[in-house]
Amino acid sequence: MKTEKLYYKSAYIKEFTAKVVSCEKKGDVYEIVLDKTAFFPEEGGQYADSGYIDGIRVLDVKERAGVIYHTAEMSIETDKEVACSLDFEERLEKMRIQSAEHILSGILHTLYGIENTGFHLGKEDVTFDTSRPISREMLKNIERLANLAVMRNMPITAEFPSAEELKNMTYRSKLDLTEDVRIVTIGDVDACACCAPHVAYTGEIGVIKLIDAVTHRGGSRIRMLAGERALDYISCLSDEASRVSVMLSAPVLGISSETETLLGAKDELKYKLSEANKKIARLLAESLADNISVVLTPFSDKESLRFFVNEVTARREGDLVALFGEEGRYTYLIHSERENFKEFIKAANAALSGKGGGKAPAAEGMFSATLEEIKAYFASTQ
Ligand SMILES: [Zn+2]
Repeated sequence: MKTEKLYYKSAYIKEFTAKVVSCEKKGDVYEIVLDKTAFFPEEGGQYADSGYIDGIRVLDVKERAGVIYHTAEMSIETDKEVACSLDFEERLEKMRIQSAEHILSGILHTLYGIENTGFHLGKEDVTFDTSRPISREMLKNIERLANLAVMRNMPITAEFPSAEELKNMTYRSKLDLTEDVRIVTIGDVDACACCAPHVAYTGEIGVIKLIDAVTHRGGSRIRMLAGERALDYISCLSDEASRVSVMLSAPVLGISSETETLLGAKDELKYKLSEANKKIARLLAESLADNISVVLTPFSDKESLRFFVNEVTARREGDLVALFGEEGRYTYLIHSERENFKEFIKAANAALSGKGGGKAPAAEGMFSATLEEIKAYFASTQ
């Protein structure tokens, strides 16, 4: 016997009584069938409703051949009249998101001839896929038009037309169905085949927010929010933007251009610093006595250290140990033409609590030793 679907009588039924038709053990859980239910199963990319049957937690809801199976941890007596309740806040949020998705897809279809090719309504993320790529401009445009449709507070209705009536109707559908097709109509914005519960008026959706669109199978995957989730997200966005605005001392609506200017200035400073370090490296290399093999440089980056070593080795032969850092913790770059290069570096690491290495004639790493200890060690290797 097929289960009577109370959610098609009204999407707002949150409490109801029903009779237990069967309760069967399936592995660790039980599958309960009622004569009627308001629990909407997992279907069309939307996760199942949750709630209680006779005080027992409903973990999952699935439909097979018109029968709705409620998964629960405990068994229940057959033929018993039971009181049931849905987690309605969660259900209402799903109804808002479902309805928002219809409006967005209807606008995309009418405006750009783009089809919705997939929908996922998860606890964390809500996404829908499109048949063609969506630009940033399009995203902004459909978000605005969808919110205007919400403001018009249009009725959302559902009907099961006969096969004959269906032939003369224009509607969107992912599947080529002919029987028991439920058509959900939203004012003059959209008509679409869908089996899920929706809100009664678009105004109940509240807010629709599109987060971003990424390339997906020749089209785009759009992340969307509606209702409270959208409201919270917009509030967070505004808060973040305000904080950045204070940091930049710029108006909120100008933070992106101010950030661009700041990043440009940072790149210019980086370039100037690198040029200045090269000049210092050259001067240091020119003034270096031939017999000095351990040099503590004023640098704080490996690029400048490499530049310095190249300047020195172009001028003279012999081992060079270039360092930067602080007492007990020095970054090194060692240049040596010794034949036993690998052993030379290994022995230095062992003597000076170091680590690192490289291919002859250069090795990079770190010594956990004092400058005195490093100087004394390399003097002993001459
Ligand atoms: Zn729907």
